[in-house]
Amino acid sequence: MDFQLTEEQVLIRDMVREFVENDIKPIAGAIDKEHRFPSESVAPMAELGLFGFNIDEAYGGTEADAISYVLATEEMAKVSASHAMIMGSQCSLTGPIIQKYADEETKARILPGVVSGEKLGCFCLSEPSAGCDAAAQETTAVRQGDNYVINGSKLWITAAPQGAFFIVFAMTDKSKGVKGITAFLVERDNPGISIGLPEDKMGMNGSETCSVSFSDCVVSASAMLGEEGKGFNIAMETLDGGRLSCSALALGIAQSALDATIAYTKERIQFGKPIAANQGIQWVLVDMATRVDCARMLVYRAAAAKMAGLPYTRESAQAKLYAAEAATYVTQKAVQLHGGMGYTKSYPVERLMREAKLTEIFEGTSEVQRMVIAKHILA
Ligand SMILES: Cc1cc2nc3c(=O)[nH]c(=O)nc-3n(C[C@H](O)[C@H](O)[C@H](O)COP(=O)(O)OP(=O)(O)OC[C@H]3O[C@@H](n4cnc5c(N)ncnc54)[C@H](O)[C@@H]3O)c2cc1C
Repeated sequence: MDFQLTEEQVLIRDMVREFVENDIKPIAGAIDKEHRFPSESVAPMAELGLFGFNIDEAYGGTEADAISYVLATEEMAKVSASHAMIMGSQCSLTGPIIQKYADEETKARILPGVVSGEKLGCFCLSEPSAGCDAAAQETTAVRQGDNYVINGSKLWITAAPQGAFFIVFAMTDKSKGVKGITAFLVERDNPGISIGLPEDKMGMNGSETCSVSFSDCVVSASAMLGEEGKGFNIAMETLDGGRLSCSALALGIAQSALDATIAYTKERIQFGKPIAANQGIQWVLVDMATRVDCARMLVYRAAAAKMAGLPYTRESAQAKLYAAEAATYVTQKAVQLHGGMGYTKSYPVERLMREAKLTEIFEGTSEVQRMVIAKHILA
């Protein structure tokens, strides 16, 4: 077992670290306060190849490995989890589906735009009645000659206002249940799409989340991704990578909160000495640091399994479950150890705490991760 990063992985990590320090840190707090999508960051992120992970070089992708991807996500999330979320939605959800399931013409038309940041994609699985129970899809796609007609509403869709394309899961045959779900590519200029207003969220405010409705939205049968009835499999397989991405995002948030708290507790003087000199504070810092390291091990293990071409459903679910709960724990302790300052927007820890909470909810709640893991350990 080798715990050392390769030269290339270190290079990618350091490149992203420098970029976020210079370009993202100055706007991270503001985009949260203003609930603003950071459109100015998209081109520079693309220039660094941050939308090219998991995409073949033939379409402009970076083909860097899974460890490099989690390192990049972690570095991004340390400074702005919203930016990491924007990146993750492209690199771990929408890009890979097009890469694996679209035909050659579609790949050549869409993927270079994903990599350049000009075509942001949206993953449209959740619905008002299909949350944790993602199989309970009510959106329908009915075949009419050479076309399908899509009707229904999706909820919580990341980057919907910016979306150039939507990967939509819809029922093509309700009588087959989960085997009646099919994936489609719907492009923005397709008539019949409407985007709701952004949700007023607790955090991750730089990443806009909206409902997306399809009303008699006609797509050609060639817009089908993969085979008819295989949509649920595509969604679940994609979520393995998505959860790995979320786990790295949670890890970045937790590491950032830990770093900020170590610095603060060494500086803050009470009773004539830094508060970090108290054993009671040290033990909390130790528990925070240990959870961050445990999360990192699980995240890297899942990435290593993916790189080795092994199944990694259980590994990515465990990484997401643990890293998300660690991020919530660590950020709450971070606010506590900052005292009153932790409860203000003068320090980033309150934002980190709000951002951490989402990692226990999106791409499968912690309860859903426990269901996935239970299925594996009891098999
Ligand atoms: C900011 C944000 C961005 C998102 N982005 C996207 C996106 O881009 N695309 C997309 O498709 N979706 C997206 N989602 C949706 C997200 O994946 C869902 O919110 C999530 O899957 C949970 O579904 P729900 O909100 O309907 O919760 P519900 O299913 O209503 O669950 C409510 C609670 O009950 C628990 N629960 C439910 N069933 C069980 C059970 N059987 N046993 C134990 N506990 C259970 C849940 O864990 C949760 O705690 C996003 C959500 C948010 C908040």
